Amino acid sequence: MTMSIRIEKSGALKPKPDEDKLGFGSYFTDHMFLMNYDTDKGWHDARIVPYAPLQFDPAAMVFHYGQAIFEGLKAFRTNDGRILLFRPDKNAQRFNRSCERLCMPEIDEETFVEAIRAIVRVEADWVPAKAGASLYIRPFIIATEPALGVRPSKSYLFAVILSPVGNYYGEGLKPVNIRVESDFVRAVRGGIGNAKTAANYVGGLKAQEIAAADNCAQVLWLDGVERKYIEEVGSMNVFFKINGKVITPALNGSILDGVTRQSVIRLLEEWGIPVVEAKIAIDDVLAAVKDGTLEEAFGTGTAAVISAVGGLHANGSMHVINRGEIGELTSRLYDAITGIQAGKLEDSLGWTV
Ligand code: PMP
Repeated sequence: MTMSIRIEKSGALKPKPDEDKLGFGSYFTDHMFLMNYDTDKGWHDARIVPYAPLQFDPAAMVFHYGQAIFEGLKAFRTNDGRILLFRPDKNAQRFNRSCERLCMPEIDEETFVEAIRAIVRVEADWVPAKAGASLYIRPFIIATEPALGVRPSKSYLFAVILSPVGNYYGEGLKPVNIRVESDFVRAVRGGIGNAKTAANYVGGLKAQEIAAADNCAQVLWLDGVERKYIEEVGSMNVFFKINGKVITPALNGSILDGVTRQSVIRLLEEWGIPVVEAKIAIDDVLAAVKDGTLEEAFGTGTAAVISAVGGLHANGSMHVINRGEIGELTSRLYDAITGIQAGKLEDSLGWTV
């Protein structure tokens, strides 16, 4: 499907922020992409308009029953001035899996990617040139029908907003401490853990506060039944290298299927390092820290790409991994993925658009 997009340019462009002080998600560009859905017309009125507050009826269903899904991906500026998206088809596919789970109308993959290409083209000047910086892309859908009653909404808004973001690590890869959460859980099997929906994040805030108080940057989530098996780390998937073997929790319905996770598994396969996807008990990982066989641990996600884990805080004490240093495989993966994204390394797997 080729969609026609109405474009209304802003008359007052904002000054661009200092590329050295972008941080994450603090600045937004001059325009946004919007498209409406209702049961009669389906998706319609695709448009790029000046970035501005949106108005909704106080009864809009998103405020009450939480039908809200989103995605996160990035656009990168290459040294020769091109702009690359990293695997947007994967985000489109996950977006639609989230839609399906939350009884929301899907957007076909081509339309989703075209919407992103169109808004990024309009905002091309906002894609930072600084190494490691990028334009974060946040597509989302919310339920807009003004009605109370627990059922799927009959109308929705799809929007794409853009935010220039800095390198997650100001001075290169820095290992973070993670707190093993043995009380709160993020998701349960049969729930919505494998959908990228707002509810999963609000449910995690409490544990994140507790982790921060323990000097930890993220929460390590365990399974919702036995609190025994590792699921994810904050908003990242997680990998361990134990005794030369790389393992990551198998997707089980309550874990988000990360695009970076898929990319890491594929790259390691290319390098002849197979990844085992399995149930991983936290006790086994802590034992491996203790006997020195746990060589590296890292999280994977769009925001930080690869994030080295320096220590696991469990049962009141910190278990330091690899002397708190960044492992060889961790930094090799970081360099490979960020190199492909920035157009510096050959994209032999065809991941950039
Ligand atoms: N898990 C959760 C809960 C997340 O929010 C994210 C970020 N989207 C990830 C994992 C990593 O996914 P991705 O690699 O697609 O960014």
